[in-house]
Amino acid sequence: MNIHEYQAKEIFGRYGIRVHGGKLVRNAGEAGEAARSLGGQVVVKAQVHTGGRGKAGGVKLAKSWEEAESMAADIFKLEIKGLPVRRIYITPAEDIGHEYYVAALLDRDKGLPMMMVCREGGMDIEEVAAKTPELIYKKHFNPLSGLHPFEARELAHKIEPDGSKAVAMAGVLVKLAKVFLESHASLVEINPLVEMTKGGFLALDGKMNLDDSAVAMRRDLESLRDLDARAPQQDLARDAGLSYIPLDGTIGCVVNGAGLAMATMDLVKHFGAEPANFLDIGGSSSPEKVVTALKIITADPKVSAILFNIFGGITRCDHVAEGIVEALKQIKIDLPIIVRLTGTNEKQGREILEKSGVAIFASTMEEAVQEAVRRAGIKPEEKS
Ligand code: GDP
Ligand code: MN
Repeated sequence: MNIHEYQAKEIFGRYGIRVHGGKLVRNAGEAGEAARSLGGQVVVKAQVHTGGRGKAGGVKLAKSWEEAESMAADIFKLEIKGLPVRRIYITPAEDIGHEYYVAALLDRDKGLPMMMVCREGGMDIEEVAAKTPELIYKKHFNPLSGLHPFEARELAHKIEPDGSKAVAMAGVLVKLAKVFLESHASLVEINPLVEMTKGGFLALDGKMNLDDSAVAMRRDLESLRDLDARAPQQDLARDAGLSYIPLDGTIGCVVNGAGLAMATMDLVKHFGAEPANFLDIGGSSSPEKVVTALKIITADPKVSAILFNIFGGITRCDHVAEGIVEALKQIKIDLPIIVRLTGTNEKQGREILEKSGVAIFASTMEEAVQEAVRRAGIKPEEKS
C-alpha cells in the first residue's frame, strides 16, 4: 500500500525527522486560504501515488497566496501519470542548500533491509542508477537492531565530505531506518533530503510503501489508506477474499490454494509462457468468488488465455463450474478458458461446463497448462 507525501511526513515528524508542517486542501479556494495562513512563499504539491510530480507540473512554488490559489486550480485539473489530483498539500517553501537522496528499502535478493544514499537528490533515482551507479551507496542493516549510528555515519560520509554535516545526516538515516522497520515498509524514500541554507536537514518529500500483510494487522496503518486512490482490481480481490497479485504475463490463472497456484505458475513458465497473475480463490470457494476472479482477470488487457487449476477438497468443483457459467452471463469473455477440475464433485462440475460448452477440458495439470500456453500464443487473426 502506498501512502501520500503528507502522511509520510506526519510519520517522519513523529520520529524526529524534520519536516515542514503543511495544510491539506481539496480545492483552489482552500489552497489560497492555507497559503495565506502559512504566510510567505509556499509550495503547492499534488498528492498522488506516483513520483515525478514536479516534472509533470504537480509541484509549484508560489510567491503569494493569490498565486498559490491559481496554481492549485491548474494542478487540480492535471492528470499525473493517469492519476487525478484530488488533494493538494501546501507547505512553506524552503531555501535549499543541496538536495540528497536517501531511502530505506527491502533488498529481496539478500532478504535484508538496506539503506541507499546518493549525493545527487531531487532527480529520478532510476536514471542515476542507470547512468551513474557509482554515485549510489548502499548498506544493509539488521532488521532487529536497526541501523547503528556508526553504520549511518560511514554511509553519510560517503556523500557528505563535511564532518559535522555528515554526523547530522547520519542522525536522519538512523531515524529513517526506524521508520522503515516499525511501519513494516518495503520502501521509505526521502527525495530530496535537503540541507537548508540556514543549516540542518529537512525532508522535503516523502514516499512510503507499506507491506499489505502488515497493514491488515495494524489499524493505525490501515487508516492511512486513500480510498479514492484504490487500485480497483486489487481491492475487488481483497473484498472478495481472493489473494491476487498482478504480474506481467499472458496466462490468467485461477487456482485454489497458494501452493498449487505457485506450482501452476512454475509450470506456465516451464512451458514457455508467463503468468498474468497469481490468484488463489482459497479453500471454501463459492460461485461468486469465481465470478469475481474472472472479472478481475478479464480486466487485464494482457491476458490471452484463462487457466483454471482446481484441486477440489473443501473447494467444490461444481461451485467453480457454476461460477464460470455465471461469469459468462455477466461479462463477455472472448478468451479461451482451459479447465482442469479434479476432486470433490468433479463429475457435476464437468457436466455443468459441458452443458454450457464454455470451457476446454484437460485431465492433467500439465495438459491444461500446455493447452493454455498454446492458445495464448495464437494471434487473434489466426483464431477464426
Ligand atoms: P516529486 O517531483 O514528486 O519528487 O516532488 P518533490 O516534492 O520532490 O519536489 C520536486 C522538486 O521541487 C524538488 O526536488 C525541489 O527541487 C523542488 N522543491 C520542492 N519543494 C521546494 C521548496 O520548498 N523550496 C525549493 N526551493 N524547491 C522546492
Ligand atoms: Mn521527490
